[in-house]
Amino acid sequence: SKIIIAIDGHSSCGKSSTAKKAAANMAYSYIDTGAMYRAVTLYFLQNHVSLSNPKEVEKALENISIEFRINSAGQNQTYLNGLNVEDEIRKLYVANKVSEVSAIAAVRHAMVDQQRKMGKKKGLVMDGRDIGTVVFPEAELKIFMTADPLVRAQRRQIELMEKGEVLDIEEILENIKGRDVIDSTRAESPLKQADDAVVIDTTYMTLDEQVDQVILLADM
Ligand code: C5P
Repeated sequence: SKIIIAIDGHSSCGKSSTAKKAAANMAYSYIDTGAMYRAVTLYFLQNHVSLSNPKEVEKALENISIEFRINSAGQNQTYLNGLNVEDEIRKLYVANKVSEVSAIAAVRHAMVDQQRKMGKKKGLVMDGRDIGTVVFPEAELKIFMTADPLVRAQRRQIELMEKGEVLDIEEILENIKGRDVIDSTRAESPLKQADDAVVIDTTYMTLDEQVDQVILLADM
């Protein structure tokens, strides 16, 4: 029968690519919670929301609506207030701010509420930082992914290059390591491995190996 698969872990270790492909192979739905935090961050940047002003943050959250739609090529696209922001939210200026925005308790509460609603129907792969620990502590399968930081930065560099953003490895490495530190040390639901999570280190793995591993674990 269909289950909930929670995939958490460090930045850029292949969570989303693995989750997406595993979900497609199993005919499960897929939710990228990082995209939700990135969309909130984009809104905050565009509207100059002051992160230290709780009233401004609260008001902004009321005005944000995030949706996922599938385009004609079958790709998942993130929409912020009716606009496709899929490309914009992947840029480095958003990535450099997202961990600060995600550390705000009010932001997390709003996102977790939405994520739980999206997960009402089983047959779901959800990836993020707190899925197995906070959003779905009852998930039947929890995976914690990690990889060597330099390998993660190299993979991210190729991905960004394919989208036309050419960056030095040092700049990307700094972003990845910085996000890991903020994500794992924040007060509100920090990134941590759930006690019952299976660890997958993707340093020496191909995407297909990662996908096969998840499907195998889901079958057990
Ligand atoms: O997964 P991705 O790297 O796109 O996530 C971007 C950022 O969003 C993370 O670095 C983290 O700060 C935040 N995030 C979070 N909780 C989640 C998913 C993402 O705090 N469930």
